Amino acid sequence: MATPEELAEIRARLDLVEIVSRYVTVHSSGANYLARCPFHEDKRPSLTVSREKGLFHCFGCGAGGDIFQFIMQIERLSFPEAVRRLADQVGVALRSPGRADASGSGSERARLAGLNERVAQYYQRNLQRSGVGKRAWDYLTEQRGLTPETVKQFRLGYAGPGWDLLLRTFPAEQQVLQRLGLVSLARSGQRYDRLRDRVIFPLRSVGGELIAFAGRRLSAEETTPKYLNIANSPLFKKGRELYGLSQALPGLSREHEALLVEGYLDLITLHQAGFGQAVASMGTALTAGQAKLLRRYVERVYILYDRDSAGRAAAWRGLRQLIEAGLEARVALLPAGQDPDSLVRQQGADALREILAQAQPATQFYLDTLIEDHRGRGVRGQEEILAQVRGFIAGLDSLPWRYQLIRGLASRLDLPQQEIEREMQGARTHGIMAPTVQQGGDQRGPEHQGYEERLLYFILQGELPVSRLMELFTPAEFGSYREIVATLFALYQEAEGPEQLSGPEGPALLQRWLARLTPQDGTRLRALSLSERLDDDPERAISQLLQAQRLRQTQRQLRELRRQIRQAQLAGDRQAVEQLQREQLQQSKEQAQLLREVGWQRTPSGHLS
Ligand SMILES: [Zn+2]
Repeated sequence: MATPEELAEIRARLDLVEIVSRYVTVHSSGANYLARCPFHEDKRPSLTVSREKGLFHCFGCGAGGDIFQFIMQIERLSFPEAVRRLADQVGVALRSPGRADASGSGSERARLAGLNERVAQYYQRNLQRSGVGKRAWDYLTEQRGLTPETVKQFRLGYAGPGWDLLLRTFPAEQQVLQRLGLVSLARSGQRYDRLRDRVIFPLRSVGGELIAFAGRRLSAEETTPKYLNIANSPLFKKGRELYGLSQALPGLSREHEALLVEGYLDLITLHQAGFGQAVASMGTALTAGQAKLLRRYVERVYILYDRDSAGRAAAWRGLRQLIEAGLEARVALLPAGQDPDSLVRQQGADALREILAQAQPATQFYLDTLIEDHRGRGVRGQEEILAQVRGFIAGLDSLPWRYQLIRGLASRLDLPQQEIEREMQGARTHGIMAPTVQQGGDQRGPEHQGYEERLLYFILQGELPVSRLMELFTPAEFGSYREIVATLFALYQEAEGPEQLSGPEGPALLQRWLARLTPQDGTRLRALSLSERLDDDPERAISQLLQAQRLRQTQRQLRELRRQIRQAQLAGDRQAVEQLQREQLQQSKEQAQLLREVGWQRTPSGHLS
């Protein structure tokens, strides 16, 4: 395990907002940042991130923690793995590799990614070598028009034509190469290089790891596939990654939209031409996993697909995935015979900009192409169109979308809309998807905060000195926050802490405080520390808490008085009854006064006793 000093150093060198923004688009909101939560199906930005505190919290699903927990949760790593990953990024050398790290999957993953890194360097060197890589270099720079900077930026490489060049370069790692999908096993039991005589495209995860390679055949012979993707490996799962995403992150958050292309070279050419928001689905139709990944970063996606029939089928499937992921989809129709790469190379970036400006909304593209396919086929054609749309709509969860399709279909086929709706009804009940259940709900806003929460909020914001809280209250006076307050007081009794939590030592103290709490209490305190600004002041919260405590006490006394009065009445002690009733009147007046001060609308916190 890393030492506390090492952890503190890693924390200090990293910016949580920057790390989070690699995975989701963040917007600043007051002192904090907001993002759509990557840990649940988030319709609104529920994830709050604080740069100063180094904490994140989702007010929708309750996920939260510090920078290590963020990496653990989003990359599905153990704590030592996350620490190692971040330590590597900032160049903090961990003195003790630790037990869990030496044998656990963390070192395994790091070893695989490390070997990929060396393999990428080997392929890159091949491309630069005059004899070996000349053909590949000429292909990329002359035929494809890539600049040397672009080749370097995307770390393109070349795999030579031999069957065992990679195997001989890394003789000690043959088994690992096989696990990475770079080497295959022949029936004879011999291993051989999978990527031969190919231009190499390394694939990087958003976290920065080199996870896979794809290769484009260089020779014109068509005995092998033009593109060879790597099979699934411990680092790479098909359909979960987008090529170029790590390079596109700045472009995506700048443009709030993505350009979706199929091929590796399409993507690279677009980036070189200034379309930094392009990502590639890697030669297949977009998968649900890829659409969800995009949803973390943008609102709108332009599909740039070829006009051939395979391209159209891919575009339809892609549209569906985008719609289901809650994205606005548009289709940019390329001129016949062109792909994004050739268009930009031959006609320039402005030609593409023009095509993007004329992109069609998803419904229009889908219905128009469908009707074009069945043109002149009369009633039979119309029936087939209806059947197609029925299949498309089945399971589609978006009401506006279904409605748009039905309305568009009615006007295009000149059929009554109600009839089409009835026709589509069956489709809905077949593949109906359960609505997303949002856990917890929105807990922000002062109306949800009791007095205890508000006092702690001001402590966390540094607007109320801890010493003042310690003067006025004991932990026992707090209800459900008792342990949280007791832990804070204990920290201050052990060693003099900073007067206010907003100072330079604040974040470290907050970390120590959180570290001592149960997971449930930790989550509550973190949520409180990232709550929205309360329109209130600390002194008011203090006096209200004190009043609420007095109110509780009065109410307890009133209950006791009522009990005593009943007893005295049963005993026939009239004098005692009168005496007690006078007291009761006095207490009732006090209660009424307190209730007025506290405010009728705000029910006093029920936790106080
Ligand atoms: Zn969430």
